[in-house]
Amino acid sequence: MVKQKKILHLVLLKFHGGCQQIGMSCVEVEAENGKILLDCGMEPNTGEIPKINDKAIDAVIVSHAHLDHCGAIPFYKFKKIYCTHPTADLMFITWKDTLNLTKAYKEEDIQQAMESIECLNYYEEREIKEGIKFKFYNAGHILGSASIYLEVDGKKILYTGDINEGVSRTLLPADTDIDEIDVLIIESTYGSPLDIKPARKTLERQLIEEIAETIENGGKVIIPVFAIGRAQEILLIINNYMRSGVLKEVPIYTDGALIHATAVYMSYINWLNPKIKNMVENKEYDAEKYDDEYIQHLLNVARELHEERSEQAQEQDEKFKSKKVIDLEKSKHPEKDLERWSRNMGKMDILGIDFIPDFSKTLKKLIKGKKAKS
Ligand SMILES: [Zn+2]
Repeated sequence: MVKQKKILHLVLLKFHGGCQQIGMSCVEVEAENGKILLDCGMEPNTGEIPKINDKAIDAVIVSHAHLDHCGAIPFYKFKKIYCTHPTADLMFITWKDTLNLTKAYKEEDIQQAMESIECLNYYEEREIKEGIKFKFYNAGHILGSASIYLEVDGKKILYTGDINEGVSRTLLPADTDIDEIDVLIIESTYGSPLDIKPARKTLERQLIEEIAETIENGGKVIIPVFAIGRAQEILLIINNYMRSGVLKEVPIYTDGALIHATAVYMSYINWLNPKIKNMVENKEYDAEKYDDEYIQHLLNVARELHEERSEQAQEQDEKFKSKKVIDLEKSKHPEKDLERWSRNMGKMDILGIDFIPDFSKTLKKLIKGKKAKS
């Protein structure tokens, strides 16, 4: 008998954008059993989007909620979209903001995309199809941002997305303790030798000095910050210098989609730099300080959601500890576990059957708040 030679399948990578440009990040990975996209972004200046045959794509895995990484998704009808919990909330804000500005797609397209989302935590593994699985690592870039660790037909690929290895005010640095990899796809913005920036402390002080000078001369400071994450970082810097007395206390106003984004940040404090958690738990931020009723409302909602989520997380932990819960998706022997569950029905909870997205709550409450105001 002649032995049949197994034909070796090559994993193919195709870059639809994001090369030699900032924007439109989109990498197609073709495996033996299917095709997936890593990000599907828009070119922020021209509104250009990658050309994709969405019917041929099994899933899109999104690294984070910036327009250049997720902005093209509502233009298509993808079967499945994976991202972290905060990314789902922030992505909704990004899409809504783009819709308001460009009318490039419809409200229903956003809703449809939201319904295709499945959220994961960092390090949680998910199999998309036989031979294709992935997990998220913290990328330290904006709330919920992730590097994608993908195993395709035995090849290990790390797609970093945008990463930040330094500690910021809002986030912990990117994970660097990563499993073995065969292929690295890495962000290279600010990667040239000419891009070396002064130390963070120096830049912060420069900003604060300029603000202080303007205020002393009786002026007002307008800071145009468009990207989610940057605004929250700058707010924290200003807040910090005001609290330490270096900067005179004056009212701060934020506008636009950044108000929603800040509320989402506040409702996921477990995902942020632990210092922020301390601040919130010690009640160092006070919604009543804000003159604007709408911002008061958002901050209160954010705090409520955080408390709810913390309680849920604690309950979950307790259940896991007492082994009263079965997570089918993580189970090595799902059939046996199902049997065990059916014998103990009523005494055990089961996960992995119904997926109730976390973001619906944030969105519902935020939208309700907006309606009440307008
Ligand atoms: Zn980004």
